[in-house]
Amino acid sequence: MRTLITGGAGFIGSHLCERLLANGHDVLCVDNLITGHLENIEHLSGQDRFQLRLHNISEPLEIDGPVDNILHFASPASPVDYLRHPIPTLKVGSLGTHNTLGLAKLKKSRYLLASTSEVYGDPEQHPQRETYWGNVNPIGVRGVYDEAKRFAEAMTMAYHRSHDVDTKICRIFNTYGERMRLDDGRVVPNLMGQALRGEPLTVYGDGSQTRSFCYVGDLVEGIIRLLNADFHEPVNLGNPNEVTILDFAREILELTGSKSEIIFKPLPQDDPRVRRPDISRARNVLGWEPAVARRDGLRRTLEFFRDRVDL
Ligand code: UDP
Repeated sequence: MRTLITGGAGFIGSHLCERLLANGHDVLCVDNLITGHLENIEHLSGQDRFQLRLHNISEPLEIDGPVDNILHFASPASPVDYLRHPIPTLKVGSLGTHNTLGLAKLKKSRYLLASTSEVYGDPEQHPQRETYWGNVNPIGVRGVYDEAKRFAEAMTMAYHRSHDVDTKICRIFNTYGERMRLDDGRVVPNLMGQALRGEPLTVYGDGSQTRSFCYVGDLVEGIIRLLNADFHEPVNLGNPNEVTILDFAREILELTGSKSEIIFKPLPQDDPRVRRPDISRARNVLGWEPAVARRDGLRRTLEFFRDRVDL
């Protein structure tokens, strides 16, 4: 089994590389390191079944030999990252998806698209089921990511319907764990970094907005199951355990034993008010649900950040 993964040096991508190698795959990791890091895959680079190609997948890619699976995970994915790289984000979701689907068609590969809960935008239905079409502001600052992923889903379904490519789409909800970047701007690394440094924890808005956090190990299990499933409609992957951001900040204080105060900052534009996956489809189709409690996952993540934070 030979598997190509774009964004393989990123947070989720690197966990997938590791898991696929452990499952006996040959892994070809493609990354241009715009937000990925070599450090994430350093421990894999000695294995002869692991190969790295430094390449921007928004440009066409030629590969020699067979490719059994293509996993398209390349994209800036945190709000801070895609606001910093708006055009590369639009390009990797559109051109990058087109290039990888073209390769899947040529090589007759199975194809899995990493999509996102952002396709639901600021949702008017709660929790979010896959049948909901979403509420996205196309010209807002988050539109570069949301619309790129919505386009990517449309392109993926078109290749499935028109060219019979064996495609799958996972809609990934907020995920955390080891190898997140401390400076990616997301709420987990931000608050943990602040707590570890004894700085105030920054809560945006009044903190009443909600998110539902999934540990990366659980997510990877769901992705592998979806890759092996005969199912082509999108599947939500995430943890339905929902929390307000203010309560989440309090949890981080308790977990770290930090005496930091919580301060409030302006809410970013188009920040979704609520987010929680309905995972009935993943339960029924994949027999999957998250197994790691937030407390346990956050503890592991904290250990990872503790070694890396500049004090
Ligand atoms: N957030 C926060 N403080 C931070 C970073 C983020 O209160 O230091 C909030 C953000 O406004 C959002 C939620 O936490 O409501 C999750 O933000 P994140 O950037 O992790 O990802 P999102 O779920 O918005 O894509």
